[in-house]
Amino acid sequence: MKELKKGSLKFVQRYNQTLILRLIRQRSPLSRYELAKLTKLSPTTVGNAVDELLAIGLLRETEGASSGGRKPRLLELNAKGNLVIAVGFMGRQIALCNLQGQILEQQPLVFQSQDGPQMLEELSQQLKSLIDSHQRENILGIGISVPGLVDPSGGLVLLSTYLGWESLPLTPRLEEDLGLPVMVENDGIALALGEKTFREALEKEENFVYIHAGYGIGATVVLGGEIQRGEGLAGEIGHMTIDWQGPQCSCGSRGCLEALIAIPRLLAKYQQSTGKALTFAQFKEKVAGGDEKALEIVDFAGGVLGVGLVNVCNLLNPQLIVVGGELSLLGELLRQKLCQVISLNGLPGTKDVQVQLAGPHSGGELVGAASLVVEKMFALPVMS
Ligand SMILES: [Zn+2]
Repeated sequence: MKELKKGSLKFVQRYNQTLILRLIRQRSPLSRYELAKLTKLSPTTVGNAVDELLAIGLLRETEGASSGGRKPRLLELNAKGNLVIAVGFMGRQIALCNLQGQILEQQPLVFQSQDGPQMLEELSQQLKSLIDSHQRENILGIGISVPGLVDPSGGLVLLSTYLGWESLPLTPRLEEDLGLPVMVENDGIALALGEKTFREALEKEENFVYIHAGYGIGATVVLGGEIQRGEGLAGEIGHMTIDWQGPQCSCGSRGCLEALIAIPRLLAKYQQSTGKALTFAQFKEKVAGGDEKALEIVDFAGGVLGVGLVNVCNLLNPQLIVVGGELSLLGELLRQKLCQVISLNGLPGTKDVQVQLAGPHSGGELVGAASLVVEKMFALPVMS
């Protein structure tokens, strides 16, 4: 990344620049005078930091409306020429995004091989041709969202049963091949980070849980503004036991959230009662059309997920729960049921939690992958 590449910058200068970038991102456009007031830095320090950020192309200057005198010069992020490459393995897509998380260009990620190291070689080739078709100096970094267990600091994919990968040195290899910073994250965490980075309402949330509910169910827990990983498996809400005598789950246990309401289970339930096999898109249409059986199933899914959320609330007491993933497309009906169950069964004090659906705000895994690079770029440096 542009400012990270400049290893010679002193810590304080870098800290000030990041502080200014973060403020401009949150409240853009801002004048130098406003920046000095907000940061409590001297006008000279702000001026120097802004000059450097303008010089490396991270900021651009515009003219504000005049209130009589000279038009004020305002600063905003330079969206043009600051690009991020996002890689998503669930949808098998690569995208070029801007700093606002908007997808500018997208192409399929195609593999001939199913062997981990060979797939890594193919990924490297595809990324190289995308980079070569643009100006390399405009690309700040590459973010990769992987379904599975990852070690983001070492850039390793520890285990992805979905991709058949084990102990794969993803980012060290790509950084060596491509000469750009590469960041990798678990797909569920990347999705939550995408929401937190690019959805204004979530940017300042310190304590929230992002539930990804669809063909599988997982959660990302953010407490005190930090993602909680535990020993690496924190957030496996899909295998929270809801009914210990319930149906068998793929994990070997019974009655897990996922065994009860993952999309294939809901579609099977619909088929059992009506004899009709539907895709999820068709099921959504049935819900929208008021089909009685489909509505019953939404009520069931909301009830079961609601019980899971009551447990989450009692354990973590978040301010906000965001439900994303395909199930969130079931809409307000689902959300109301979740709120109803929390309000009936939650402890006093946990019931005030807000429940939101990610819905149309959700940019999916590519936006999540892009947020890995953007977040890193806007993270305040820590004295080592
Ligand atoms: Zn399970």
